[in-house]
Amino acid sequence: MTTDKPHEECGVIGIFAPAEEAASMAYFGLHALQHRGQEAAGIAVADGRIIRDHKGLGLVSQVFNQGNLSPLTGHLAIGHTRYSTSGSSSLRNAQPFLVDTQFGPLAIAHNGNIANAAQLRSEILQRGIGLPTSSDSGIMLMALAGARGDTWEERLQTVMGAWQGAYSLVLLTQDKVLAVRDPWGFRPLSLGHLPNGGFAVASESGALQTLGCHHIREIAPGEIVTLDAHGLKSCQGLKPAQPLARCTFEHIYFSRPDSVWDELSVHHVRQRLGEELWQETQLKGDVVIPVPDSAIPAAIGFSRVSHIPHNDGFIKNRYIGRTFIQPTDTLRRQGVKLKFNALPDNLRDKRVIVIDDSIVRGNTSGPLVKLLRQAGALEVHLAITCPPIAHPCYMGVDMGTYDELIAHRMTIEQTREHIGCDSLHYLSVEGVMRAIGRKEGYCNACFTGVYPFKINTQHTKTGFE
Ligand code: SF4
Repeated sequence: MTTDKPHEECGVIGIFAPAEEAASMAYFGLHALQHRGQEAAGIAVADGRIIRDHKGLGLVSQVFNQGNLSPLTGHLAIGHTRYSTSGSSSLRNAQPFLVDTQFGPLAIAHNGNIANAAQLRSEILQRGIGLPTSSDSGIMLMALAGARGDTWEERLQTVMGAWQGAYSLVLLTQDKVLAVRDPWGFRPLSLGHLPNGGFAVASESGALQTLGCHHIREIAPGEIVTLDAHGLKSCQGLKPAQPLARCTFEHIYFSRPDSVWDELSVHHVRQRLGEELWQETQLKGDVVIPVPDSAIPAAIGFSRVSHIPHNDGFIKNRYIGRTFIQPTDTLRRQGVKLKFNALPDNLRDKRVIVIDDSIVRGNTSGPLVKLLRQAGALEVHLAITCPPIAHPCYMGVDMGTYDELIAHRMTIEQTREHIGCDSLHYLSVEGVMRAIGRKEGYCNACFTGVYPFKINTQHTKTGFE
């Protein structure tokens, strides 16, 4: 079932575990990254000689079982959970991608989106090289397979300069795992020491904690990390961009609240977003409720500074997730009720302030407001912990096209009318940055339309198909 949220990019994991079966660790790491992509999952494993892989469409628990995990033997692994930001959601685009190169087998898993992929793709095709997939990650893999250099680190350095966009990558050869981050630092990628020796890298530090990692640090923008029998090696593939362009939405919505992004606790920043939201709006009401789960910390922060009590107003069915079973027409008419029930005892005759993290297309806020009114709310005031999303993202987040974004089509007053709430409020870009506690180093392009580099706005998610 779909929600009106920006869709996460993808999750990646890399394991070098000399004393363990890496596939099993990758499997549990991917579970911890499931929220970043639910369309496909895959793991590739190396034992020093060959690479084996398994991937499929669906959740990690649907793709893997003991039967297909057991043959993936080896101490090196990479894994991926996919949401399609480039290319369709067919099995052909499920990652990791694996190819044979002149330097041996190479597998890749990618989180992000290359904004100049169309140009890179035509350059590769003109050289007579075929592409295994319709996604930008396949373009990166083929560029790397044909790159000059004596080592994979050198080949990476050769091609990274041409990749304009977001990439947090894990690569697997027969005897090493490499982890790479783009120089703008759009997407997170962290590294930790495994408890029984070895290392793990993951899109989020929360997944590394799940694996028992310690000494967790962020892989720096532009850094290449190599993990193999010689231990850990690091070099700077490209200098970090000035300024950096970390994705603000990792704080607002994507990352797990127990993750650390830019050395900041995501949970703490979300509480601060709620505090700033009240400072800017000075809203009055009887109760503050979050749209669960991502807005819960912000509602706590809002309540703390406003002294308006915080309570649950919605109960979310946490297990409906992303189902591939289409509901019947009768169930479809239930809309958001399939996912949320309201709690009348906490809402009846109250002026309700609802905290949510974002409005993208504006198609679920209205039904949620209706649910609150049906449960007896006297007034419904909707407060959002980010500015209006008026521009698409070309760096790996599916927010829809200009035409689909409600903030591009309507003013705030028109949006309020469309949603049917008594008032509608957004946090300003300045408020978001105050909550994060940084003056620069973040991408806010979906709010401001100011991208870190020139963008080809004609390129769409399935443009290569
Ligand atoms: S445009 Fe928005 S979603 Fe995309 S990277 Fe920038 S802040 Fe993140």
